[in-house]
Amino acid sequence: MDWDQITDRLSTGGERIGRALKATFGSRNERVVRALEPIVREVNALEPWAKSLSAEQFKEQTVAWRRELAEGRTTLDLILPKAYALVREASVRTLGLRHFDVQIVGGVILHRGAIAEMMTGEGKTLVATLPLYLNSLEGKPVYLVTVNDYLARRDCAWMGPIYSYMGASSGAIQSQMNAWDRKPIYACDIVYGTNNEFGFDYLRDNMKGSVEEQVQRHLWYAIVDEVDSILIDEARTPLIISGPAEESSGKYKIADGIARKLVRDEHYEVKEKERQATLLEAGIIEAEKMVGVESFYTPGNEDWPHYIENALRAHNLYLKDREYVVEEGEVVIVDEFTGRKMQGRRWSDGLHQAVETKEGLPPRQENQTLATITFQNYFRLFKKLAGMTGTALTEANEFHKIYHLDVVQIPTNLPLAREDHNDVVYRTEKEKWTAIVEEIERAHGIGQPILVGTTSVEKSELLSGMLARRGIRHEVLNAKNHEREANIVALAGEMAAVTVATNMAGRGTDIKLGGNFEWRLRKALEEAELQEGDPERLAEIDVIRKRLRGVCDRDQAEVLELGGLYVLGTERHEARRIDNQLRGRSGRQGDAGRSRFYLSLQDDLMRRFYREWVTNAMEKLGMTEGQEIESRMVTRAIEKAQKKVEDYNFEVRKSLLEYDEVMDQQRKTIYSVRQEVLEGKDLREKAESFLQRAIDRAAEVHRGDAAGFAAWYLKTFGISVSSEAAEQAVVKDGSTQAALKTGLDYYDEREKTLGDELMRKVEQYLLLNAIDSRWKDHLHAIDSLKTGIGLRGYGQLDPKNEYKREGFLLFQQLQGAVEDEIASLILRIRVSGPDAQGAGRDGPPGGDGLGGGAMPSPSSPRLSYQGPAKTSGPGDGAGGPPAGIGRPIAPAPRRVSAAHAFDFKRRQEQVAQAMRPAQASSGSPGPTSAAGTGAAPRPAAPVKVVGRNDPCPCGSGKKYKKCHGS
Ligand code: ADP
Ligand code: MG
Repeated sequence: MDWDQITDRLSTGGERIGRALKATFGSRNERVVRALEPIVREVNALEPWAKSLSAEQFKEQTVAWRRELAEGRTTLDLILPKAYALVREASVRTLGLRHFDVQIVGGVILHRGAIAEMMTGEGKTLVATLPLYLNSLEGKPVYLVTVNDYLARRDCAWMGPIYSYMGASSGAIQSQMNAWDRKPIYACDIVYGTNNEFGFDYLRDNMKGSVEEQVQRHLWYAIVDEVDSILIDEARTPLIISGPAEESSGKYKIADGIARKLVRDEHYEVKEKERQATLLEAGIIEAEKMVGVESFYTPGNEDWPHYIENALRAHNLYLKDREYVVEEGEVVIVDEFTGRKMQGRRWSDGLHQAVETKEGLPPRQENQTLATITFQNYFRLFKKLAGMTGTALTEANEFHKIYHLDVVQIPTNLPLAREDHNDVVYRTEKEKWTAIVEEIERAHGIGQPILVGTTSVEKSELLSGMLARRGIRHEVLNAKNHEREANIVALAGEMAAVTVATNMAGRGTDIKLGGNFEWRLRKALEEAELQEGDPERLAEIDVIRKRLRGVCDRDQAEVLELGGLYVLGTERHEARRIDNQLRGRSGRQGDAGRSRFYLSLQDDLMRRFYREWVTNAMEKLGMTEGQEIESRMVTRAIEKAQKKVEDYNFEVRKSLLEYDEVMDQQRKTIYSVRQEVLEGKDLREKAESFLQRAIDRAAEVHRGDAAGFAAWYLKTFGISVSSEAAEQAVVKDGSTQAALKTGLDYYDEREKTLGDELMRKVEQYLLLNAIDSRWKDHLHAIDSLKTGIGLRGYGQLDPKNEYKREGFLLFQQLQGAVEDEIASLILRIRVSGPDAQGAGRDGPPGGDGLGGGAMPSPSSPRLSYQGPAKTSGPGDGAGGPPAGIGRPIAPAPRRVSAAHAFDFKRRQEQVAQAMRPAQASSGSPGPTSAAGTGAAPRPAAPVKVVGRNDPCPCGSGKKYKKCHGS
């Protein structure tokens, strides 16, 4: 395939994107691709050079490039042509695959941090080897993100021989691996894994107790395979790590009972498009009676509507085997786009529990968020991001706006020969299905392989039943087991095969006509006890490969004769992209093939958008029973409907992202401070600045009340402050310098006693605990805030702005709370016993539900907490440790097996325990009492404080001094 032919195809590739898009996009795309011509020519010209090198020299070249890059003597762009030429040759030698020119083009696009749209079967797995190898030379790990574990494993094993021939290491992360297994894989040059695992590992790392336990290194360069599926479809469900919240609730059951009794459109209305159910006035009155409360709008009852509306959604909008399946007593979400089960993911906000209750399952203990991130925000953390898929163009706008990713459509290696027929439309679903079964029978009869796409597991099974009754042998894929599925799909191109699948089941597996070559090769190699890519036996492998190639070619010719793979869609999907994906399974690499969608006017999409239109259309078209039409009018209407849904879904994702912006900023701030603490950076400076802020805040609170300030000081730090210092602190425009100095002098003294090494450990321990426990509380508050904002209705306030405003206030409170906590503990912590430094965590690494078992960490000091001086007055304790009751905070930190994720709860408890006496006796303002200032990295802002006579911010209605300020 030479360059001119490739660029000829640039203009035909556009047919899949529609005229309008092509007009704006086509020419730019063409320019981008044409501009790569010199690079491709250069790579081709370097082929003889690559061929002349020995295996040893490949590895030597890798080492040399790494060194040159490290020393800044060259750049990735400069070595790209040579590197690509070498990878291509390594692939020829190890796998027998020579990258096509279009694959080189794709490889350059990926290296540049854009999305390469390449049709199914164009060999994207192989394309990725080029930029992955190249970018790994910088010494930072590069990630290849797949949609499931099976593909991560498969692609890594498949491409592995190329990397090792080049002298680069590679590995695949699997969800069931514990942290021990993960760490060496993350240390590889090239890491394969799923979006879920990469995202979860990021969150888990930020919950770990030591740097040694963290597994991910830099977030440097990632290529996302099936990028539309991950960054668009899945982006609506954020990743959440959750743990049990304080209490669980029986409210789900009551709400479920109520939902069963209320009458649709009388008591509540259902909005299908928004997936919402809303109580009407009559419903509220009815429900209040059933709950047995006077009103939902009095304190303590205001969460009832939320529970009931969730139950209504569960009953009206979330259907079994469509939105979810029930498996082993669990409600498992089925992704509506892909039909894939989303193991371990839960709908948020109590919806999941409502569905569980509907199914008669015990609602899983209410969980609270411990860490969360959206895929959008996770992937935006990477220095460079790229993606590949067969279908990105319809979403080019979103990729650009949200991820700053451009989409470049790469021409196919061979001209596309598939025939895409017009949709046929029936009046009723029943007539449609009858026609479908007949069509399948016809194609099957002549031996043409046929792939039937459905929009749900339920419909797959329905069709399967009909086929079975006709005695047609077929396979059904229902998104249950990726590996099994891949094996079935791989064979869907065999003569007379009938395969029924939800739209994208088995995505990522190529359907080859006449049967799958790789699959047969793997089996043949197994039989001959050979391993693909075994450098010692490449010649033997080559013989088998050639023989099988012959067999496959013959089988393929037979199926081509019959017209290639027939893709039959049984309904149009909400998104055109998903339909394209299904179509794209046929006609790979220039093969013959055909596709056609069978629709009815009763299909969901039609009913949702065109209820009236449909009735009119039926009359206009004069449709009668059993009659089919092939109408451009209907096809156009459907495209319009799809466009509407796509736009709507984009808005949903954009809105999710906007909401998450608040959190994203906060998470970055907290995680970066936390990471510094974990790495032991500037610990004393941090503790000191927290101390200072706490003192400043207390001085504001006790403005004009020196005795009050002094008492606070004693209770908080366990030492007294001189009355002059207290005076200075509380007068208007006074200074807290002297008060601070007293504390810092004592700090120095303690540091002398403990030694600086131990003091640093104490600081680290306290900072980490304070940050983690307060952050957890904060996430809980944010969860409630979200629920609350939803309930509050829209009134005159923009909910998003409200959320941002309140989220920011909460964060300020979080910062204040961390500072207060540090201030109150840092000077009173006492290190006990002779084994102070020796008590480490021990025990085997335990699993933790989420697959990231914590590792033992280096020793932590055994800490104990020094209580406040009970009897002493001001002045008493100054200059020396107060005679308090030494009270251990907790036993030495220890690995609890099957521990709660990441030791979090344990540490949380320790701090809670340590805090109890401190809070009981200290007048330290609670977290809600003062809007604090920024944390360490922010410049200090003026302190804004609640006056003693102001209403208490807790909302009690009492004066502050009578409530939390007392
Ligand atoms: P995609 O992900 O683009 O749908 P895959 O990476 O699964 O495609 O590859 C599809 C098939 O194409 C694989 O069986 C692979 O062996 C084959 N293939 C890819 N690149 C080449 C090549 N350069 N030469 C021959 N076959 C190739
Ligand atoms: Mg693929």
